[in-house]
Amino acid sequence: MKLTITGYSTALFATWYFIEELGLLFDAGDGVSAHLLQKSRKIKHIFISHPDRDHITGLLQIRQLNAREGGFPWVYYPKDAGSFPAMDNFMSKFDPHTQHNIWHPLNDTQDVPIKKGILVHSIRNEHIEAPKNSIKSLSFDVIEVKQKLKEQFKTLSPKELQTLRLQKGNDFITEEKKQSILSYSGDTPVQDFDRWKHSKILIHEATFLDNSINPPKGQKKNQHSTLEEVIEMVAASKVEQLILGHFSSRYSKQQIQQAVMSFAQKYALNIPIFCVFPGEVVKDILNTNSIV
Ligand SMILES: [Zn+2]
Repeated sequence: MKLTITGYSTALFATWYFIEELGLLFDAGDGVSAHLLQKSRKIKHIFISHPDRDHITGLLQIRQLNAREGGFPWVYYPKDAGSFPAMDNFMSKFDPHTQHNIWHPLNDTQDVPIKKGILVHSIRNEHIEAPKNSIKSLSFDVIEVKQKLKEQFKTLSPKELQTLRLQKGNDFITEEKKQSILSYSGDTPVQDFDRWKHSKILIHEATFLDNSINPPKGQKKNQHSTLEEVIEMVAASKVEQLILGHFSSRYSKQQIQQAVMSFAQKYALNIPIFCVFPGEVVKDILNTNSIV
């Protein structure tokens, strides 16, 4: 499936990624409506990773401009982040024409169908320190679900298959196959090297180029990824295309480019890597020049 991904992602200021074919928005930082213009009408489902302000302040304008029949655009948020019910409540009063807008709390490992054969799966992450059963920060996996012919029937002729289908039904000869077509880390430290192992396209944050900058755990500061651990993790995975964003604005484009190239070389990562540099909106990211 072709995916047209447009995004902006600079740590502290704003993050959003729009996937046009899926009518899907990951996070809704400042500037999302201003940049998407009429295309923002296509947003049907908004998945918010966590309530830090750089990921949510665009919601007010998206909802105000695009609220429509069916409660769209639907908003999904980590269930224990209290900012969301407060915002929904405020917006219902501030913009009464949007009061039928639908907002869903999401738990860990929940599947949300967004169109035929496509679902978004939520995964709790450790960006915000919280008890295990408390859901305040999420990553997301977009999964394509297809009915495929079972292995043992692959040698049968079309005629034999048709006979079997008529006798026993379609479910007898096919099985459900799931494939992760796109994953979005949200803000998170790298926790589990296998998490995105089977993702085709991965959008991952890489806030820091320097491994020593992340605040030590237990300091009550939100945790982020460093570029090196992201590259190391992806090098051990089956990811086919990598989009890096959420860089700190302290780094220049050149510093980021050089660091990406040197880590890619260090870990022998030979896939296209795209960067969303600080301060830049990138249209159709996968069609731009990759760094590596
Ligand atoms: Zn952020």
